[in-house]
Parts: sequence; structure tokens; C-alpha cells
Amino acid sequence: MLARCREAGIPVASEPAAGESGHVTLVGGGPGTLELLTIGAVNALRDADVVFYDRLAPYAELARLTSAELVDVGKRPGHHKVAQCDIEKLMVDAALTGKNVVRLKGGDPYVFGRGGEEVSACVQAGVPVRVISGVTSAISVPAAAGIPVTHREVSHMFTVVSGHAPLTEKEHTHLAGLGGTIVVLMGIGTLPQLAAGLRRAGMDPAMPIAVVERGYRPGQRTTIAELGTIETAAAGCTNPAVLVIGEVVRVAEANRDHTEATADLDLLAASLLEA
Ligand code: SAH
Repeated sequence: MLARCREAGIPVASEPAAGESGHVTLVGGGPGTLELLTIGAVNALRDADVVFYDRLAPYAELARLTSAELVDVGKRPGHHKVAQCDIEKLMVDAALTGKNVVRLKGGDPYVFGRGGEEVSACVQAGVPVRVISGVTSAISVPAAAGIPVTHREVSHMFTVVSGHAPLTEKEHTHLAGLGGTIVVLMGIGTLPQLAAGLRRAGMDPAMPIAVVERGYRPGQRTTIAELGTIETAAAGCTNPAVLVIGEVVRVAEANRDHTEATADLDLLAASLLEA
């Protein structure tokens, strides 16, 4: 920002000592809607010189929120992901040249987001770093489908699980034994193993499961089935999706109005930003 003011000949009241390095801000971007960006996220984006963003962050709107250089590190032409170590190097190098760097991530940086690794990379390079929490998809995507992760007298706990790799037999047993809501991220690929594992662990085959695809995005879709039939019902489901396993799924129908209200608020937020 300062550099841009200097270039444009705009006087600035106080400048940091010459040679001061830039810094990195890890920003949780929420599940993909402007409505769920925090004020901290909006401010950090506004003040950034460069933004490295992921495909799950609300990137479609970025040009309206910042004049920073925008770098997509989720995909490259040819659809190869930028390796984690390369992302860390890009961030650190940009900060060392004095830039104010924002690393915009989907949801919350510390929920299956490798935020801890990125903070460590900055600390090791001596680059000042801070983290702005974001609204995680683990709670907000079920909410987009009207599903509360807890509900009085229905579920008083929820466990958030990564479906990136299949769970162990012991984990299936513990999860089934808890009796609360199970929320699975990155779970489409391992859904058959999870469903079979929970059945083996004694979970009721009539337990409802929701698959919420593309929460807050065009084409949002909710598929509801039971543990006994979910593999067939969810055969056409694709990432990104959040799975919710538990009796709270039955509350969704009653909350349908709430989901519509959220969509309206999103339109309102978009028009306010344009104003
Ligand atoms: N840090 C993120 C999660 C990263 S892991 C967070 O806190 O939300 C990526 C997974 O998040 C996806 O595979 C999917 O399970 C979930 N996810 C993120 N955004 C989503 C969205 N808009 N709709 C559905 N699932 C989403």
C-alpha cells in the first residue's frame, strides 16, 4: 500500500523505517460467500499487496475487495496444484521483498487447511505472521442446508472428521459409540468405507445422512439418505461436499425458511459492496 502511495505521489503521514520487511496474514475466507467473510478478512484483503488464494476461498469476488495482485495457487493452467512447499516459498519470498501478503484460504485456516504449516514456514523465515479465523465449512455448510450441528435433545456434540483417508476400525467404533453428530470434510471419496465401517460398528442403518455439495455456491445441492443406502443415493455426488451423519439431519426440513433467508442476505451483501 505504502509503495503504491509513493508511486502515485500521494503523501503519507508516517512511514515505517526503510527496509522493514513485509508480513503475511493467513485469512480464513469462509465457505465461499461474501456474507460469511469476517470484517478482519475484508480489511486484510483491502490492505494487501498480493493475495495467494485457493479454489475453495471466495475468489470470484476478490477483485471487488482488493486492488492487490491476485495469484491462484489452487490450480495452474493444466490443472496441477501448486505444491504446499512452493506456496509457502511464494508467500515468504513476497513478504521478504516488503510486500503485505494475504494467504486466503477456504473456511478456517486451522481446520484441515494446513494453516499451522504455513505459520511455521513464516516463523522459520523470520517473517511476521498472523491468522484471521474464518467461518469453517464444517458448521456453515450444514447450516446452508438448514442442518444445525447440535440441537437440544437431539445431539449435544459434533465431531469433525477428515475423510481424506479411510478411518481405522477403532475410529469407526469410537465415532459410532459417541452418539453425536459426525461432520465429514473431504469425505466423498471414502464415503463407502465410512458407511460400511459405521455399520460394522453397530450404527443404526436408518441413521440419516446428508451430503451437502457446493454450499453457498451456484448449484448447492443436498442429498439425504440413510446409513444403509447412502452409497447408492450419493453415487453422483462430487467435491466439495460436507457430510453430516446424525439425527440432526431430520431438523433440516423445519429450517428450510432459514436457508432461503441466508440466500437473500447474500444478495444484500453483494449489493452493499457494489454501492
Ligand atoms: N479449511 C476449510 C476446509 C478445507 S478441507 C474449512 O474450514 O472449511 C476442504 C473441504 O472442505 C472440502 O473437501 C469440503 O469437504 C469442505 N468444503 C469447503 N467449502 C465447501 C463448500 N462451499 N461446500 C461444501 N463443502 C465445502
